[in-house]
Amino acid sequence: MNFEATPDQRAAAATYRAIALRHFAPSPRRGFDWATWRALSEAGLWRTLVAGRDAGADASLNVFIAAFEAIVTATRSVGFAMALANQATVIRALLLHGTPAQRDRFLPALTSGAVAATAISEKGTGTEIRALQSRVTLDGQDGRLDGHKYNISHAPDAALILVAASATHDGRPGTALVLLDPQRAGVTRTAPQETLGVADLPIGDMTFDGVPVGTDDLLCSPKDGLRVLMDIASMNRALFGLLCADVVGPFLDDALAYVGERGALGVTLDKHQHVQRRLVDIHVGAERSRWMALAALDQLRAGDPSALASCSIAKLGGARDLTQAALHLLAIYGSDGYRRGPLATFVADALAMGTAGGTEEMHARNIFSQMQRRATASHMHAA
Ligand SMILES: Cc1cc2nc3c(=O)[nH]c(=O)nc-3n(C[C@H](O)[C@H](O)[C@H](O)COP(=O)(O)OP(=O)(O)OC[C@H]3O[C@@H](n4cnc5c(N)ncnc54)[C@H](O)[C@@H]3O)c2cc1C
Repeated sequence: MNFEATPDQRAAAATYRAIALRHFAPSPRRGFDWATWRALSEAGLWRTLVAGRDAGADASLNVFIAAFEAIVTATRSVGFAMALANQATVIRALLLHGTPAQRDRFLPALTSGAVAATAISEKGTGTEIRALQSRVTLDGQDGRLDGHKYNISHAPDAALILVAASATHDGRPGTALVLLDPQRAGVTRTAPQETLGVADLPIGDMTFDGVPVGTDDLLCSPKDGLRVLMDIASMNRALFGLLCADVVGPFLDDALAYVGERGALGVTLDKHQHVQRRLVDIHVGAERSRWMALAALDQLRAGDPSALASCSIAKLGGARDLTQAALHLLAIYGSDGYRRGPLATFVADALAMGTAGGTEEMHARNIFSQMQRRATASHMHAA
């Protein structure tokens, strides 16, 4: 175990933090911050993930994570951080599961800043991945995609959408992961929709009507689709857990300064134990979420089967701690916090993390089934 940042990680954090601070528009933001996205992409953020493929994937993922954390802290935006996590998830999926031809086809554009989305959720089957109504029907090399997707980040403007759909493999149920160019005939996308928070993340729906799909558009065989989808979702969950921890930091720093200044009758707020307790709770939550997410990412990188549960724990715990932190901050600022402004925006954004990346119930179910599996395995081992 070595938690010390390497010189490469420190350098990446400093470089990308400076770029993010230079470009990012202050809150409240409407619409996606393309200027920052392009600046980060041009500086090579996505190439850090690809570069390490031959030179040692561990080092490369850790450099990306250092950059990710620095950007999330500098930009203070849950929506922008989600977009970063989603892009990294698709790039890693292509690196680990894609064919050489698929990597050649998609990675140059994605590493230059073309946006990728992942479309799993559907109206009516959101939390239940195995109940997908979207369907790929294959006849030899060729096939078609029909169905719909619901509440998908960057659906309105992504250049590549990884679509999860049901499929049949050798007469058995499977999962197709389609690398879909959304310009293809039969794809319809909505404009960005109004949401409670994350106004800087375009979210929309899609329908697929006889979209032509070939086997070379599939990330893997439908036989392996569910397993690969779990691996892809795990990366996304751990990064969501990490962003929940990191995005709180600058708001906590502001609150510490505020409670040291704001006072009444000669006593500043930081002298009140109840106020201290709220601030400590926020810090404790962010720290435990951060270390859990980093550990989960490390397990995932190492191919440890425990990663499946750990990534869910990271997402579930991160979202809980972030929501609690947002409510503590709201209380600390009194009516000032409730005015329309950066903190109120942050509170509304934080609430998205209870649903995005999977609901608490879904993660609890996943964690519970992993617990049962482990208990069964240890009983069999002991017998
Ligand atoms: C900001 C944002 C961005 C998003 N981006 C994406 C994206 O990029 N890609 C994508 O695929 N999806 C995305 N989503 C969708 C998100 O993944 C789903 O909303 C989520 O999985 C829940 O699905 P649902 O909304 O259909 O809720 P439902 O599944 O209908 O759940 C509603 C409630 O019922 C509970 N529930 C449902 N089924 C069960 C069960 N079997 N057992 C116990 N409780 C249950 C849920 O936990 C929840 O509390 C995004 C959502 C948001 C808010």
